[in-house]
Amino acid sequence: MDRIVFLGTAGARIAVFKQIRASGGIWLELNDTRILIDPGPGSLVKCCASRAKLDPLKIDAIFLSHRHLDHCADMNVMVEAMTGGGLKKRGVVFLPSDALGEDPVLWSYARSYVEEIVILRENETYDLGKLKIHTSRRLIHGVETYGARFEGGKTVAYIPDTKFFPGLWENFKGDILIINVVRREKSEYDHLSLEEAKEIIKAIKPETAIITHFGMTMIMAKPWVLAEKLRDEVGINVIAARDGMQFAL
Ligand SMILES: [Zn+2]
Ligand SMILES: [Zn+2]
Repeated sequence: MDRIVFLGTAGARIAVFKQIRASGGIWLELNDTRILIDPGPGSLVKCCASRAKLDPLKIDAIFLSHRHLDHCADMNVMVEAMTGGGLKKRGVVFLPSDALGEDPVLWSYARSYVEEIVILRENETYDLGKLKIHTSRRLIHGVETYGARFEGGKTVAYIPDTKFFPGLWENFKGDILIINVVRREKSEYDHLSLEEAKEIIKAIKPETAIITHFGMTMIMAKPWVLAEKLRDEVGINVIAARDGMQFAL
């Protein structure tokens, strides 16, 4: 079944490291291909506890947008889970080059467990099973960061952490749009605010936009209320992700 399961919806320091919400990343199942996106702290725990049956041994690829800990903490854990503790060589790991540099996110012993490691480049297309993965241009976020469009029947676009810039939407046209909205108000931080997300959603006009990766200012303001307001303002179906939420594609 094509679906998106949210293994966590927390973003930024307090929400993640106090586990106000979970932070296990996003499970995307599209065209018979399963991709785990940004396996943050608790990804395996949330995978195994999920009401939607998710078998880590069936993951075809892990996609890492950038090396911040709230996105990559469970990378090695999930590589072990995907490969049955290394007994089954399988799966692809997509990650930015700085995730393999000094302080590598993927430990060297675990690299031999997977079938392929793909270093992400901007504006590139990769084949994965029956999917095409199109990376965005490099985003603005301190460390090397890429979003992507996952195309297979439907197209699911994912905008991870980034500072807003005009034209940001150009790389993310798709049927379903997932946006990390860390902040309620605009700021100088390298994160999107709700107002900026609105501008992006208006420009892309997806069937459905799902906001997630909430910092404390978003959580305090009740994301589901904000999403409803946004939906009325832009006339597009906007949903606030909840921990464990399954969205059928
Ligand atoms: Zn983040
Ligand atoms: Zn980040």
